[in-house]
Amino acid sequence: MCGIVGAVAQRDVDQILLEGLRRLEYRGYDSAGIAMVDRSGGLKRIRRVGKVASLSEALEAHPMPGPLGLAHTRWATHGAPTEQNAHPHFSHQRVAIVHNGIIENFASLREQLLADGVELESETDTEVVAHLIHSAVDAGQSLLEAVQGALERLDGAYALAVIDRLQPDVVVGARRGSPLVIGIGIGEHFLASDAAALLPVTQRFVYLNEGDVVELTRAGWRIFDAAGEPADRPVVTSRLSVDAAEKGRYRHYMQKEIHEQPEAIANTLEGRISEHSVLEAGF
Ligand code: GLU
Repeated sequence: MCGIVGAVAQRDVDQILLEGLRRLEYRGYDSAGIAMVDRSGGLKRIRRVGKVASLSEALEAHPMPGPLGLAHTRWATHGAPTEQNAHPHFSHQRVAIVHNGIIENFASLREQLLADGVELESETDTEVVAHLIHSAVDAGQSLLEAVQGALERLDGAYALAVIDRLQPDVVVGARRGSPLVIGIGIGEHFLASDAAALLPVTQRFVYLNEGDVVELTRAGWRIFDAAGEPADRPVVTSRLSVDAAEKGRYRHYMQKEIHEQPEAIANTLEGRISEHSVLEAGF
């Protein structure tokens, strides 16, 4: 579980991202963080162990407005729940990534990076992906190409979102094993693990399929399927309200909780299951 929110807009999105994290708190997490690209192209981040509320206080003390950003709640699998290991992870103060899930072959990727002289700041599986993407954008690839190339080298389960401060019009997202949804605005677009995170800004969503990669800009979005082919996914208008703790078809909340247990367990394990087994690192 845990959560991802991303945005590319004209207005400042820091508070939108933070509100998104608050709305994902139900998913459980041990730390939270946010990275923003400001209007002069500077990339900054704040991370905190514990609640989104302490991230929010830190952001109040050190405001980071900007039209491009990512935010994350982490449930640690690789490396203790510390600030150093909290997301977003950076590569070369240029690329930022947030990730839910587990990269199963991270140890061999990490060894290759260390052999190439890359300095790693964290113990996470996620940081290696930031460096793979950085080396591709550094060689001149678009962020989309760089992410697609990096994904080919990954085994495991993930939802992820990536920004590059030198390509400040783009957020790239990908899903395999964890959910990811696009939120459609006017001249602005969003990504999140759950549509509920984005209800304050839109009710129009596109749900990504397994293996999809998406390139979001202010003007629109392009989706590519697992084979790299352009894909069309339907736009869905949500009927959920902004304060969507609804009883739905149940008579009362306890009945709803009882009937939602299978779904709650499935949601908890998503991102912790590879093709053949539950990933032990998830526990
Ligand atoms: N495996 C990553 C980590 O340990 C992501 C965990 C998550 O799903 O939040 O940092």
